[in-house]
Amino acid sequence: MSIEGSISKDFSEGSSSSSSPQPSGGSHGSTPSRYESQKRRDWNTFCQYLKNQRPPVPLSHCNCNQVLEFLRYLDQFGKTKVHIQGCMFYGQPEPPAPCTCPLRQAWGSLDALIGRLRAAYEENGGSPETNPFASGAIRVYLREVRECQAKARGIPYKKKKKKITSTSQIKGGDQDSTSSSMMHFVP
Ligand SMILES: [Zn+2]
Repeated sequence: MSIEGSISKDFSEGSSSSSSPQPSGGSHGSTPSRYESQKRRDWNTFCQYLKNQRPPVPLSHCNCNQVLEFLRYLDQFGKTKVHIQGCMFYGQPEPPAPCTCPLRQAWGSLDALIGRLRAAYEENGGSPETNPFASGAIRVYLREVRECQAKARGIPYKKKKKKITSTSQIKGGDQDSTSSSMMHFVP
């Protein structure tokens, strides 16, 4: 219950909505940064999630399966409309009317969350070799979520790197492996 509360707050449009009222004394160094406190909250939420499993999962037994289930579990607190393929608004960035498609966690939120938890895991004594947040399965899952959400909303995912090799554009990039498989999507 406390988990739901903290999650729904944490994920409410992650950025600059409401900075919690802090005594603005300019006490440099003593107050943790926003990222650090967010990371700690995420970590506590995840540990609580493991404890709430039946049977509870000790952190030492945690693997990428629990992490994936955790990510799916978070979807119920999501605020991003992701149209299913049968929806008439599928692919429309700004649908003219409401629909019944589910709300999900936005890919960007999940990606940032995994980054924080990955760091927190090692800061809390986990070894990098067994870090479940660094697992390839997580990367694959996030990539699928990203592409699925990009297609559902009709917004092509933009790479952060602005550099686009002109050769791949000219060739049409059929054999291009890294750029998204969205282009080759076959219904
Ligand atoms: Zn829809």
